[in-house]
Amino acid sequence: MRKSDIRIGTKFGYWTVIEPPDATRHDYVRCRCICGKEKMIYVYNLLQGKSLSCGCKRKEGDSLVLKDGRKLTAKVHRQHVAIKYAGFGREINRNNSTGVPGVSVFRNGQYRAYISVGRKQIHLGFFDKLDDAKAARKAAEQRYFADRQEKADALKKKLKKDSSK
Ligand SMILES: [Zn+2]
Repeated sequence: MRKSDIRIGTKFGYWTVIEPPDATRHDYVRCRCICGKEKMIYVYNLLQGKSLSCGCKRKEGDSLVLKDGRKLTAKVHRQHVAIKYAGFGREINRNNSTGVPGVSVFRNGQYRAYISVGRKQIHLGFFDKLDDAKAARKAAEQRYFADRQEKADALKKKLKKDSSK
């Protein structure tokens, strides 16, 4: 988003813009926090995510440091170089009554296979037999893992090449 995109009602975290930027205010916009506090906020702090609330959001533990951490994670996932993703090589989920990672028993008694890649859970299908669900999960692991491993290896190779120049 750019400064020119900011309108009344535009939201930045807990802030809602209640007066749009105008030249006389030197890049400050009036915002209202969800807690009701109003304040003039420097527009670039909003655009860069540096100001997300009057301070009440931070108190909830949603610190900027955490936010940066999530951004970094998202970046790694976007570049498809994250080898460890949710569900792979992890401990078995407590809610998973089949004891098989990525396979859960559905209410109708069928087995549901899934795999989590990044933050996305990919549904692999419903199966009558646990073994079929297991096989579907295994195949998906190989497919997603091999793909990522390849990309990571290629990236490593490239880095090595660049540094040996
Ligand atoms: Zn607030």
